[in-house]
Amino acid sequence: MKIIMLGAPGAGKGTQAKMLADKYEIPHISTGDIFRANIKNETELGKKAKEYMDKGLLVPDELTCNLVVDRIQQEDCKKGYILDGFPRTIPQAEALDKALTELNDKIDYAINVEVPDENIVGRMSGRRACVGCGATYHIVYNPTKEEGICDRCGKELILRDDDKPETVQKRLNVYHEQTQPLIDFYKNKGVLKEVDGTVDMNDVFNAIVKVLES
Ligand code: ADP
Ligand code: AMP
Repeated sequence: MKIIMLGAPGAGKGTQAKMLADKYEIPHISTGDIFRANIKNETELGKKAKEYMDKGLLVPDELTCNLVVDRIQQEDCKKGYILDGFPRTIPQAEALDKALTELNDKIDYAINVEVPDENIVGRMSGRRACVGCGATYHIVYNPTKEEGICDRCGKELILRDDDKPETVQKRLNVYHEQTQPLIDFYKNKGVLKEVDGTVDMNDVFNAIVKVLES
């Protein structure tokens, strides 16, 4: 099963992608996580990506597309995968399409997790990420047992630089301009499924599973 998660930043794509990856035992591929790992390891890609991410801008397509096209051809992706945060522009979607056509393959579902802008700022300002394993929490909607400490690995939680309110609005503008057109792109391909992302995360998950298994 090859799935793309669509939705605004903070809509819950990563939360759902992780739960789906566990259920269906397929990899969760998050370009944001890949860039953050590169920033942590101080790679050339990380240095370049950080310049854009800190400003709430998208990393250029030429740094992003090949990375994903290579990743989906690895052995663990044979059974399927969940793309989270990619594609984010029409040229990225076209590059993915071209690569999949050459591999005689296709995307099965593009799931749009719908959350209105007014909910997004609260979602992102309350998001906390673990510096160790990258697990994501929310101070109100998905808190850790001990404040500021990751339930999974015990390391410290931080507010991502790009989740600060001044950057969130910029990221939302970028989403509406560059990423939202993908909804029609995948609707035209007949693979778009929409779910209400404003309800509890377990209910969002159940709605997605229902779509995938219907
Ligand atoms: P995305 O990957 O789309 O940027 P995340 O999955 O990281 O979004 O979710 C953003 C924040 O909102 C996180 O702090 C997460 O714990 C929280 N969250 C995710 N889904 C829900 C939900 N259904 N209701 C409330 N909060 C949620
Ligand atoms: P995310 O973790 O998906 O919220 O992504 C965090 C940031 O990484 C985004 O705001 C972008 O700067 C960058 N990024 C992640 N995925 C992509 C992508 N597919 N194209 C361009 N930039 C991306």
